[in-house]
Amino acid sequence: MRLILLGPPGAGKGTQAKILSSKHGIPQLSTGDMLRAAVADGSAVGLRAKSVMDSGQLVSDEIVNEIVAERVDQPDSARGFILDGYPRTVVQAESLAAMLEGKSKQLDAVIELKVDEEALGRRMENRVRETLAAGGSVRADDNAESFRRRMSEYHAKTAPLSSFYARAGLLRVVDGMAAMSAVTAAIENQLAAAVRN
Ligand code: ADP
Repeated sequence: MRLILLGPPGAGKGTQAKILSSKHGIPQLSTGDMLRAAVADGSAVGLRAKSVMDSGQLVSDEIVNEIVAERVDQPDSARGFILDGYPRTVVQAESLAAMLEGKSKQLDAVIELKVDEEALGRRMENRVRETLAAGGSVRADDNAESFRRRMSEYHAKTAPLSSFYARAGLLRVVDGMAAMSAVTAAIENQLAAAVRN
């Protein structure tokens, strides 16, 4: 199964991707995690990406397309994958389509998590406060200013992907404000319907 999770920052894509990944035995491919790993490694890509990520802007399509192309060629992706945080621009979506076509593979579904964005901002702030209070550390882009930037990048560059995938007949929308397990159940229903199609 090849699946994309779509939705604004903080919508719960990562949480749901992890649950689906262990249920279906296919990897979660999170470009955010891959980029943070590159930053932590101090690799050339990481050095270029760090300040862009910290400010809440998008890393270049070129860099991200390349890391995804490499990741999709790993053996664990052969049976399928869950893309979390990619594609984020129409250029990335077109690159993914060409990449899959080159391998004679298809996407099964694009699941969009619909959320209340004001509630997301509050959710992020509460999570940061609780984590810091417990002595933990938070992401460099988890502050009000970067979060607003991530949201505006989402509106400008990622939101157009909904109609892109609706035109392709792949888009399925789920209420992302429901309880975590209800969101998982709704996604599973949509996947079952997509596979029947
Ligand atoms: P969130 O969805 O919560 O904002 P992510 O972990 O998916 O967090 O992404 C964090 C940052 O990594 C983004 O703000 C961006 O700078 C970079 N990034 C992740 N995925 C992509 C992508 N597909 N294209 C460009 N930049 C990306």
